[in-house]
Formats: sequence, structure tokens, C-alpha cells
Amino acid sequence: MVEAVPPRRGFTDAAALDWYSDGMNRINQAKLMDGRALAQQVLEGAKAKVRTIRDTTGVTPALATVIVGDDPASHTYVRMKRKRTEDVGMKSLLIELPQGTTTDELVAEIRKLAVDPGVHGILVQHPVPKPIDKRAAFETIPIEKDVDGVTASMLGRVILGMPAYVPCTPAGIMRLLREYNVELDGAHAAVIGRSPILGRPMASMLINAHATVTLCHSRSRSLPSIVRAADVVIAAVGKARFVQGGWVKVGAVVIDAGYNEGTVGDVDFETVVEPASLITPVPGGVGPMTIATLIDQTTDAAAKQLGVEV
Ligand code: NAP
Repeated sequence: MVEAVPPRRGFTDAAALDWYSDGMNRINQAKLMDGRALAQQVLEGAKAKVRTIRDTTGVTPALATVIVGDDPASHTYVRMKRKRTEDVGMKSLLIELPQGTTTDELVAEIRKLAVDPGVHGILVQHPVPKPIDKRAAFETIPIEKDVDGVTASMLGRVILGMPAYVPCTPAGIMRLLREYNVELDGAHAAVIGRSPILGRPMASMLINAHATVTLCHSRSRSLPSIVRAADVVIAAVGKARFVQGGWVKVGAVVIDAGYNEGTVGDVDFETVVEPASLITPVPGGVGPMTIATLIDQTTDAAAKQLGVEV
């Protein structure tokens, strides 16, 4: 019997390279955090909640989405969110406003949705065009309908660890970390990005889970050395392939929240997958969890407004 002998080291021929890269592919595959699979579970749960709400009250939970302008990426996100919303049996309302919409006009539309008892969650797709006062628009959403977690009050609740509809991307990331049993208690987490919808609430949630958090941003010095010290790295920068393999310590868990043109994350996957023990792919990592969380939080908001236990 001829034994399978691994090719000698040095990789001087094609067969040796294939053998090595097959093995590496299998190892790297095992490191992937599957956001699609977990999102599917969350959506199944949401579907069951929608059924309970409808059976108990006769009311179908509804999410209203407001989109301003003609940014193609935003329209694509909205289409995806609406499809998932309808897939779980919820109503999806769409309010499309033209590019030149003023802050007052946008606020007036949101006010209508705020008092409409048939609307249980309101999503204002961002970014909104520059001249609009985004904060004024967000703050018009009543807290009980703020299923995307964009209001200042909701951020306060998140920071204090109170029950909240958490901004959907960090909430989805926390679910992924829990699903993969990532130990956060006492771990050092580096969050890159401090936006109100992503980096800041992410850092707060990690602190509430007893991690030691370094929140980095564009003025941070020695970013690679901060990242190198981290057990958990969250990239939320908005720059394609920003985090490099050489920045990441062996065994770190790396979450790529980025979504840049060409479906590329904020992490240089090819180099970071080697040192990482777990990593989210783009696509198929954080993105599906964001949408699933939005839908799940909308069903919870509807249940609360209608007085149904789910
Ligand atoms: P954002 O509002 O533009 O914030 C980006 C953050 O990155 C800012 O805090 C900025 O620092 C920081 N930053 C920029 N350049 C940096 C540098 N060279 N070094 C360190 N930090 C730097 O973006 P965002 O809305 O939080 O989104 C971040 C990423 O997540 C984007 O790729 C976006 O597409 C993605 N995203 C994905 C989902 C999803 O569902 N998958 C949802 C939302 C967002 P300053 O504060 O100093 O400017």
C-alpha cells in the first residue's frame, strides 16, 4: 500500500502548491463566521412572532422606510430590506422623496408616520443628501418606533445597558459573537470607527459585556499597534481592505462591518484570515445580520405597541 505523503516543503512544484492551498482553504473555511445562517435563524424567529401578532390582534406589523434622493446603493439596500420584511409576513411601506427634499419636508413625512397606528417601525435610510439635517430627521422618530436605533435617546439606553432597539449593525455583531462563543469578559477589543450608528454603540455594547475597549478613529495614532494588542477587532471604517494581516495578532477574532464598492470589506481578508481564529466574510457576515436584526426589532416593537407577548 502506498501511503499519502505530503509533498516536501518549499512548494517548488504546482502539485505541492495545490496541496498546500487546499489545506489552507479548509482551515480558513473553518474560521468563517456565517452571518447568513445565523440571520436565517433570526428571520425564522421573526416570522413566528409576526404570525403570533397577527393571530392575536388581526394586525400585520409594518415597517415604513423613508428614502431621500437617488443614491443607487441606498436604493439597493432598501430593496433588500423590503424583500426580507415581506418574506417574514410583515408589511413594508416605502416613502420615496426626491433629491431636493428639505429638512422640514422630511421631518413632516416622518411626523405622519410617527402618529400612524398602522406603522410600528420607522427606518430613515442613510446617508441622506448633505443639505438635510440628519439629526433633526432622526430625532423626529418616536422612541417606540425607532427600530434602527438612530435617536439620541436610544443611544443613551444602549450606553447604559437598558433595554433598547440597538443600532442594527452592532446588535447583529453582538449576536454573531455570542453565537460563536467569543469570550468578551476581560478581552481587549479594538473598534475602528466612531460613528453614532456603528462604532460608538458597538464600543458601548462591548464595554457592557465587560470587554476593555479601545475606540479608534481617523486621529488615532499608531493604529496598527493598537489593533495588534486586541483579542477582538471590529472594523467599521468605510475604507476598502483597510485592516492588514500584519496588524492582527494570532488568534484574534476579526469582525468586518465594512461594505465598500465591489462588495469589499474594511478588512484585507486574504492576509487577515491567516492570523485570525474567526473572521466574518464580506459578503455573508455582518450584512445579513444587520437586516435580520432590523426586522426582528420591528416585530418586537409591533408586539410591544399592540400589547402582545412574543
Ligand atoms: P462613517 O460614519 O463614515 O464612519 C467611519 C469611521 O471611521 C469614522 O469614525 C472615522 O473617523 C473612521 N475612520 C476613517 N478613516 C480612518 C482611518 N484612516 N483610521 C481610523 N479610523 C478612520 O461610517 P459608518 O456608517 O460607521 O460605516 C462604516 C463601515 O461600515 C462602512 O464600510 C459602511 O459601508 C459599513 N456599514 C455596513 C453595514 C452593514 O449592514 N454591513 C451597515 C452600516 C455601515 P472620524 O470619526 O475621525 O472621522
